[in-house]
Amino acid sequence: MTVGLLDEIREQVAAARGLRCPVARVMAELDKRDAGELRAAMDDRSITGSAIGKALRARGLRISDEGIRGHRNRTCSCQQKGG
Ligand SMILES: [Zn+2]
Repeated sequence: MTVGLLDEIREQVAAARGLRCPVARVMAELDKRDAGELRAAMDDRSITGSAIGKALRARGLRISDEGIRGHRNRTCSCQQKGG
């Protein structure tokens, strides 16, 4: 086992929530309207990931640009269902 204890704990917390992707987690925290707008922003390639991250962090949400990039590049857990 090369996984650190902290990572393992984080994994377990996320798995318990059923949401491992930070974008999915933030979506769940937003109300329907904001979640819809976030989804639209994610789909709009003219909007950079760091701009989205900045806007979300300004609202007090905890998300990294990295997490947004992962979701956009489909390397996040959202894309791994049944795969
Ligand atoms: Zn995702």
